Amino acid sequence: MAARLDEKLEPIFQDVLRRNPGESEFHQAVHEVLETLGPVLVKYPELAERKIIQRICEPERQIIFRVPWQDDKGETHINRAFRVEFNSALGPYKGGMRFHPSVYLGIIKFLGFEQIFKNALTGLPIGGGKGGSDFDPKGRSEDEIMRFCQSLMTELYRHLGEYTDVPAGDIGVGQREVGFLFGQYKRITNRYESGVFTGKGLSWGGSRARKEATGFGTVYFLEEMLKYRNDSLEGKTCVVSGSGNVAVYAMEKIYELGGKVIACSDSSGIVVDEKGIDLDRVKRIKEVERRRISTYADELQHAKYIEDGDIWAVPCDAALPCATQNELNGKDAKKLLDNGCIAVAEGANMPSTPEAIRLFLESGIAYGPGKAANAGGVATSALEMQQNASRDSWTFEHTEQRLHQIMKNIHRNCYETADEFGAPGNYVTGANIAGFLKVSQAMEAMGLI
Ligand code: GLU
Repeated sequence: MAARLDEKLEPIFQDVLRRNPGESEFHQAVHEVLETLGPVLVKYPELAERKIIQRICEPERQIIFRVPWQDDKGETHINRAFRVEFNSALGPYKGGMRFHPSVYLGIIKFLGFEQIFKNALTGLPIGGGKGGSDFDPKGRSEDEIMRFCQSLMTELYRHLGEYTDVPAGDIGVGQREVGFLFGQYKRITNRYESGVFTGKGLSWGGSRARKEATGFGTVYFLEEMLKYRNDSLEGKTCVVSGSGNVAVYAMEKIYELGGKVIACSDSSGIVVDEKGIDLDRVKRIKEVERRRISTYADELQHAKYIEDGDIWAVPCDAALPCATQNELNGKDAKKLLDNGCIAVAEGANMPSTPEAIRLFLESGIAYGPGKAANAGGVATSALEMQQNASRDSWTFEHTEQRLHQIMKNIHRNCYETADEFGAPGNYVTGANIAGFLKVSQAMEAMGLI
């Protein structure tokens, strides 16, 4: 049971519970934001009068639709897909599509809600949205995935547009799926509307550094947190969960900044390599061969593979959860702290449970919540939109330099906002309040929307 909020905020939360029954991840994401907004209502009481929080907690539009498709044997399947267009005060709805069997409305709403504040923090003109389907891409052929994507887009296209709603990838949706989705959009609309989708391939409107952006950004955020503590990544041991783009490119940037990755994972188990994880090997296994991480230990005798192993039990200086929501609980947090961990930066969305967050904040370690630390991905999506709008293509160096500056700005904004609202060093408070103020001020300027 979540802790009670203050007297103005608790009824708002109860209302969210009542209106959205059974959506526990959404409740968790809302509660985490409301917990930090007390001081905002003291400073700006007019926001409470105009029910701005209640409005932000209600999506502007929610689309749920059927996706029928045929597998390679000719058998028919039906999946459910979602697009939650949460908030467009700052720009077109922006956020990825997730394909995973766990997807239901509550997951998409939590992700869409997070996206509002994350996107606001980037300082770029993007609103918040998210979509996905309970389709499980595991074990499916490329043809099956293409047919599924085409069927999904045959409905979704009517809700999209570069000024309306701009999806991208997320778990289970990489450049290949973006290609199938964008291709079908182009075919149905007869428009080469590059800016309607991000995460595209380089030759068809994609941005350099987009693939690397979330992972790089998370490590830039980590570096800033350490810098503000007169420390650095140099010589630090890190563990990184997950094996998608976020994790792989977080590892790459850790090495570049002088750190060492000693453990990584996928959904089947963990690999510990005290000599330092060999990143080229992980990239080949995961990106090219699409095999399990256990292959790593089969190839390298000195590395240890533990099926269903607990990556947070590996002693480290910094932990980067880059897999999925609620992957790090209170017990894990305690283990990390007992083993001397000094920093946590979240590459995934809401990977730490409320209990874990509480322990991190109480301990005083550097804790960077996902909506700030992993904002580099969506920020670079906004840079992709800029390139599409100007029919341009930037160099890797230029794009990465913009990303780096954006992450520094986000960090400073969160740090200073936390200070201003009486919670020095608390990036959860800083990120929530800075994101909330930006969105609510835009909404206020536009009348009752
Ligand atoms: N799925 C990513 C996120 O959680 C990226 C979204 C985007 O690029 O639109 O922020």
